This record gives sequence, C-alpha cells and structure tokens, in this order.
Amino acid sequence: MLLEPRGAADQRVTLVLDLDETLVRSSFDTNFDADFEAPFNLNGSWCTARVRKRPFVDEFLARVADKFEVVIMTAGVRPYASLVLDLLDTGRVLGPRFYRESCTKTANGLLVKDLSRMNRDLKRTIIVDNSPNAYLWHPEHAIDVVDFVGDPEDDELKTIADFLDVIHDVDDVRQHVAHWRSGGSYELPPNARADAPNRAALAKEAKAAGN
Ligand SMILES: [Mg+2]
Repeated sequence: MLLEPRGAADQRVTLVLDLDETLVRSSFDTNFDADFEAPFNLNGSWCTARVRKRPFVDEFLARVADKFEVVIMTAGVRPYASLVLDLLDTGRVLGPRFYRESCTKTANGLLVKDLSRMNRDLKRTIIVDNSPNAYLWHPEHAIDVVDFVGDPEDDELKTIADFLDVIHDVDDVRQHVAHWRSGGSYELPPNARADAPNRAALAKEAKAAGN
C-alpha cells in the first residue's frame, strides 16, 4: 500500500494529481520559455529541465489542498520530479509524492497508476491526469485533462478547481466525475452528500478521542 492509514478524523476525498502536462510542461530545449529551471542528475549525468507552470497552477494547488487529501503521482523519474515539485509547491501544500517506480507497468509497457494501492476508499478517490494510460484501470475516478504544452491562455486548472469545489464532499465520486466533460456549471443531485452528516460526526468523535 502506498499511503499510510489515516485516522477517522480525516474524512477528505483523496485527490491523486499528475505532474507533467497536467500541472507543468518541461522541455530540454534551451529556447523554451520557462518559469524556472530544474537541474537534476540522472544516472550520473546532469540535465536541466526548463519548466513552465500551467496558468492558475498556484491557485489550483492552494484551493484543492484546502479541501482534499492531495497526493502526487507521476510517471516521471524521481530526481527530476521531486525537484520540480519542490520548486512548484512553494506553499508546501502538497501531500505525499509517488514517482515512476510506484506506477505499475503492464505487459505491453504502459505505466498505470493503480488507485487500489492507495489504501483509501476508492469511492472517495479522484485522479486528475492528462494521460488516459494512467487511469486505464480506474476510468470512473478520472478527471481527464487536456495536455498542457505551454499555451498561456490555458484555463483548464481553473475549470477543474471550480468543478472540484462542487464535488469535494460527495459520498461517491464516480457518478459526479462522469459529469466532468458535460461542460458548464454542475449542480449536485440532492442526495449526493447524504452521508456527509455521518462523516462529520465520525470526524468529530475521532477528534475528541484524539485520533
Ligand atoms: Mg502527465
């Protein structure tokens, strides 16, 4: 299991965020217009990734960290991705990070992010990723993201943050995530948070008991 068990006081939905082409775009092209550089050592050689932040990424991270248990899972290699995350997460709002070695390689070489290894209730787990391979085994939990390749007008993260605000405390994310691509504003059906009072009571009880 990837994540440690958590106490009953923590009833947040778990949000599994991708890095490359979801939150940032990196390039080794020295002409690439970047927000910062990330020099890293891979197998004894130094490389410098030039990294552009997706528009609204700072606001996005602050907003989701306020409401969700945020986990990073990237198929990127650790020396690169850990440095980029250090430079990106200046507010230190992100939770645990998992890298390429935590992804599962299929027989035909695809890197899949296996949400069943997260040690969390899948009904309350969402993955945000630009790569359909990543959520091959959990499409019902996926908010698919348009690839970010550097467009300064891109507003995908703002749209996703708005959507996540609406669904952050639902009983079962699947039917709501399915509405993600429907466009426009999304209103929760009246029964979507039927179990929320129980979650709140459980959290309160656990807090009082010091868990
Ligand atoms: Mg990606």
